[in-house]
Amino acid sequence: MKGNASVIRAYEKSVLATYRRAPVALVRGRGSWVWDADGKRYLDLFPGFGAGALGHCHPRVVAAVRTQVGRLIHVSNAYFNPLQAELAALLLRQAGFGGRAFFCNSGAEANEAAIKLARRWFQVIRKEPRSRIVSVTDSFHGRTLGALSATGQAVYRRGFAPLPGGFVRVRAGDRKAMARAVDRRTAAVIIEPVLGEGGVKPHAPGYLKFVRALARKRGALLILDEVQTGCGRTGTFFAFRQLGVVPDLVTLSKPVAGGLPMGAMLVRDRYARGLEPGTHASTFGGSNLVCAAGLAAVRTATSPAVRANVRARAAQFRAGLEAIRKRHPKLVTDVRGMGLMLGVGLSRPAAGVVARCRELGVLLNAPKKKVLRMLPAMTIRPAEVKLGLSILEKALAEEDSRPKGARSRRAKARRPPPGRSRR
Ligand SMILES: *Cc1c(COP(=O)(O)O)cnc(C)c1O
Repeated sequence: MKGNASVIRAYEKSVLATYRRAPVALVRGRGSWVWDADGKRYLDLFPGFGAGALGHCHPRVVAAVRTQVGRLIHVSNAYFNPLQAELAALLLRQAGFGGRAFFCNSGAEANEAAIKLARRWFQVIRKEPRSRIVSVTDSFHGRTLGALSATGQAVYRRGFAPLPGGFVRVRAGDRKAMARAVDRRTAAVIIEPVLGEGGVKPHAPGYLKFVRALARKRGALLILDEVQTGCGRTGTFFAFRQLGVVPDLVTLSKPVAGGLPMGAMLVRDRYARGLEPGTHASTFGGSNLVCAAGLAAVRTATSPAVRANVRARAAQFRAGLEAIRKRHPKLVTDVRGMGLMLGVGLSRPAAGVVARCRELGVLLNAPKKKVLRMLPAMTIRPAEVKLGLSILEKALAEEDSRPKGARSRRAKARRPPPGRSRR
């Protein structure tokens, strides 16, 4: 088998450089562990950018895919597919608001579907000229042009003008700005329950309830983007179920099919006619193979054992990270998040810590310059959390003992070329 270096050289020749990749080619995984092409093993505290919520190659997902792949991989949505109906019912039961599901292949597509549904609901069904979509700064909703227009971080939008119009972005947490932005022209507000790419930032208490009430009062729909928070990671299948808000539409993706590409948009019955036959589609959306994986993944994610593990491991992580913060109060500014969605604020750039952790055999990420993020598998074991915390603390202690502004020679060599996007 080829080693890391030869894979990296092959990329340099043929793959578009849309990512700043870590110099590691991953070739095998099991649970919270992955192996690179040189045979080195890593504890993965950030599997698949959140898509690996059941860890790598969960046996139930693998078994479901193995069975289905030999039976029927894909039929178009011009026919019925029993697995899609079953998965839709399962997801809607978790949402608890009745409704209907639409399946696509990614988070961005799920948000596109939600935006299109909201606009068409008003323009065609209600016959009201509402088109505006309101979102917040530091949000992330995906890379397609519509989802990008909703995305609150200017760095992702730069250079792609003209983007679709009718999008308004206001400062997250600023109630007055939100109240000014949501009016009779507003079709929907789209917001994440916890800002993920924006740096693992929960909203101020009561803010989401305020947004919910405001949207209702002004006659606009509320779309919750649960692409990152969804599927059990926060302690409930949907984060909104602990936050005291019920959306009109909710989007899912990342882990919903256990690591296979799937997006889903759920909408309350009342608005379901927003998309009617012929108005929206996806060739691969909700195909047989992916739905078989989705059924296995959702059943596993909602099992009592996994739910109990999320609660216990989240408490273990929080306590461990708080203890690290107390031992390194100058470097670690705060610990935040919800369930197994964890952010650590630093007073210095996080990139060196991420790289050092990787050398020491632990994978995590930095969504913002001074924030570390972990989205560990919901199946992670107590000993794995303990090991991850101890290696993270070692990397943090080294950073803490380095004179301010100084970098290790290695960190200098590793430094990515100038630019702002971290993905
Ligand atoms: C990752 C993410 C998306 C985009 O998902 P893709 O599958 O990459 O299109 C959208 N919203 C949120 C909150 C995300 O974290």
